[in-house]
Amino acid sequence: SNMSALSKDFGSLTEEGHSVKVASHYNTLQECGLDERSRSRIVHMRNFNNWLKSVLIGEVLDQVHQRQREVCVLDLGCGKGGDLLKWRKGRISQLVCADIAGVSVEQCQSRYDDMRKRSHSERIFSAEFITADCTRELLSEKLSDPEMRFDVCSCQFVYHYSFETQQQADTMLRNACERLRPGGFFIGTTPDAYELVKRLEASDSNSFGNEVYRVTFQKKDEYPLFGCQYDFNLEGVVNVPEFLVYFPLFVEMAKKYNMRLVYKKTFHEFFKDKIQNDQNRVLMQRMQALEQYPADGRSRLASDRPEEYEHAQRH
Ligand code: SAM
Repeated sequence: SNMSALSKDFGSLTEEGHSVKVASHYNTLQECGLDERSRSRIVHMRNFNNWLKSVLIGEVLDQVHQRQREVCVLDLGCGKGGDLLKWRKGRISQLVCADIAGVSVEQCQSRYDDMRKRSHSERIFSAEFITADCTRELLSEKLSDPEMRFDVCSCQFVYHYSFETQQQADTMLRNACERLRPGGFFIGTTPDAYELVKRLEASDSNSFGNEVYRVTFQKKDEYPLFGCQYDFNLEGVVNVPEFLVYFPLFVEMAKKYNMRLVYKKTFHEFFKDKIQNDQNRVLMQRMQALEQYPADGRSRLASDRPEEYEHAQRH
């Protein structure tokens, strides 16, 4: 029953109308009961994405923990708090969660409150929650402590929403990076623009997909650096406009914030690499992420790529 509300089409967009629509879309997303969710045809892909995020986040936190005890994280585009358990497992000290969708931020906060209540004697990280359009507003002006510094900014399946205009992409990047400590990391996952365009070019219309997902571009053969819009529909679960992120441009833009690229892989490459590790393999089994990704790691779904940035300020 959640599906009909979720597959709602947003139609064409006015220049500044987009952020409002992204917020209202995510605000109307309902929590699915576990049964319903597990019946979903995309459950394995969700689990797989979750496994990828767990491995990426785990590795980065391990690295930061090697040089310090207290770790402070910014979850940029936190949604309903899908990564809260990962932050707990990663023994961080402090978390700031930010998202454009107020209802999602509230859900994130109540998940955190529940987690805290159930943690009994275990010391759990402190957290703060901010509702903001991170492509237009500066988080530094909304933090409880304006001097706060982060060791990691995590931006999972979010950054591509900012590539509508150069200004928005820059503001998002600024929010991600300006409060990072030297040596801090900006990690994230976004759809793979190369793969999207490759599949579009191979199609005889302006859209491609399968029984599970559909991607529809507004135009073919024209790929502006910003505002290159496409709609992504995954079984009616997500249907808001997204924008291509031309990765080399993103890397250049990040230099302004003293960031240098230390790591970039497609999901397929990441999977092949990380599944060699026994602990990761066990985690994958536990997360039931295997069906969609058999031994060769091939996915029939749009592939994405994780990126990992090291903050190289005055290094
Ligand atoms: N990071 C979460 C995760 O991995 O589960 C949520 C990912 S969800 C696909 C995308 C999120 O980006 C949504 O929660 C949405 O509200 C948020 N978002 C989109 N545009 C945003 C913006 N301009 N500022 C802040 N958050 C934004």
